[in-house]
Amino acid sequence: MSFNQVANDRPRILIVGGGYVGFTVASRIQKAIKASGGVVTVVDPNPYMTYLPFLPEVAAGNVEGRHATVPLRQHLQDCEILGAKVEKIDHESKTATVRGNDDGDTYELKYDQVVIGAGSVTRAFPIPGLAENAIGMKSIEEAVHVRNWVLDRIETASLLKDEAARRRALTFVVVGGGFAGVETIAELEDMARAAVARNSRLRVSDLRFVMVEAMGRIMPEVPEDRAESVVAHLRSRGIEVLLNTSLGEVDGDTCKLINMGDKSPAGEVETQTLIWTAGVMAAPFLKQSTLPIDERGRVRVGADLRVTGDDGVVEGAWAAGDNAAVPDLTGKGVGGFCVPNAQHASRQAVTLAENIMAARNGGELKDYYHENLGAVAGLGAYKGVANIKGRSFEGPLAWLMHRGYHGMAIPTVERTTRVAANWVLSTVFGRDTSPIRNERTPRRPFEEATGIAPKEEKARI
Ligand SMILES: Cc1cc2nc3c(=O)[nH]c(=O)nc-3n(C[C@H](O)[C@H](O)[C@H](O)COP(=O)(O)OP(=O)(O)OC[C@H]3O[C@@H](n4cnc5c(N)ncnc54)[C@H](O)[C@@H]3O)c2cc1C
Repeated sequence: MSFNQVANDRPRILIVGGGYVGFTVASRIQKAIKASGGVVTVVDPNPYMTYLPFLPEVAAGNVEGRHATVPLRQHLQDCEILGAKVEKIDHESKTATVRGNDDGDTYELKYDQVVIGAGSVTRAFPIPGLAENAIGMKSIEEAVHVRNWVLDRIETASLLKDEAARRRALTFVVVGGGFAGVETIAELEDMARAAVARNSRLRVSDLRFVMVEAMGRIMPEVPEDRAESVVAHLRSRGIEVLLNTSLGEVDGDTCKLINMGDKSPAGEVETQTLIWTAGVMAAPFLKQSTLPIDERGRVRVGADLRVTGDDGVVEGAWAAGDNAAVPDLTGKGVGGFCVPNAQHASRQAVTLAENIMAARNGGELKDYYHENLGAVAGLGAYKGVANIKGRSFEGPLAWLMHRGYHGMAIPTVERTTRVAANWVLSTVFGRDTSPIRNERTPRRPFEEATGIAPKEEKARI
């Protein structure tokens, strides 16, 4: 069976991915395409768009996991939504191979035009033990799990007799000093502090937070002096920031660090919590597709966001966001291309949607041009850093700017309201610092009740 039969053979615009790019494009074109007798089909394994900038706040329990997502079926009612993964695009025959989630069937899906907005995945390096012992910060599930895990480690540690085991449980390592890593470690430290303050068996000084960054600085998106002041701020909170340092190996609970310069040993950290935020790469399925990609696996596009290969424009194919090499016409991009961030992805999506409609109506296509506005980052309650159009801010004002910006930027008024409600409730009643027990082993209470010996798992993230 092909999906064409399901969609009644209407001309289809296929959108791969329902993230920033996919959601924005779909919401802008869905009504017009439907009215003209076509169908916009959004394929994403997740039934929601994930608002990734909120992941650190989800990990720190300030934003409820579900509220940092935007449900596709609720907000894209004029689209066809498929909870599936695109495995391959054969643009010559205009066919996508899609697979239903988990053990789902595969289908051949015909389209007239395709929008590639599948974003990026965590880029890990072949570091021994990394894949087995670390977790990323790129999905809602990871963020929700990290919250429970960190709070559970604190509960567990408070009753551990062995000093080394207790220290290990209370040590948290984040690798990667980009925005995601800095916000994650700062938000987690803030939450851990609040949790420990409610636990008379522990002191804040029992906690240890370590950030490992391979470069000589953090946050390449902000000016160097601002990045240095963020390092100073983190250190003033007791967070160890190790620059020019990299992870060499993970052996069980031992992280072996190395100096970037001469690759000599840079010490070991005993921990059960290793969070990897050191980079992203374009969605891997593109390598199985016939669209032109660059050496970093990104779809090649022109400034008007049409896919463009060596022989010129590839008709009927568009791409934007993290999975596309979009020329940065301001001349300030890395290697001439826009950096992978939400600021670009959401604005590229608007241009892409307008260009799709212009192409259909015989209008002129626009080039994507966007001057970087700056960056905002939350570093825990009332703490933040911002750089807006060259002006730097820090402290409560920057934190308010971070919340104000992202609170408004998450798509739909409904989600803005839910997130704002989270913030108001924790301001009034205090942060919720209790972990959900057995979140990873939900069958345990049932197994105990029915007398089956619960499976013993080594505690690791
Ligand atoms: C923790 C974190 C914090 C961040 N904070 C900021 C910030 O403060 N400011 C900022 O500007 N940027 C930030 N970013 C970066 C920003 O979120 C991304 O650049 C942005 O989400 C890219 O949008 P996109 O549409 O290209 O991809 P995404 O938003 O990632 O969407 C891609 C979608 O494609 C789907 N998909 C993937 N593969 C397939 C497939 N094979 N078939 C079908 N669907 C598929 C995914 O499930 C996903 O829904 C942050 C990122 C992270 C991880």
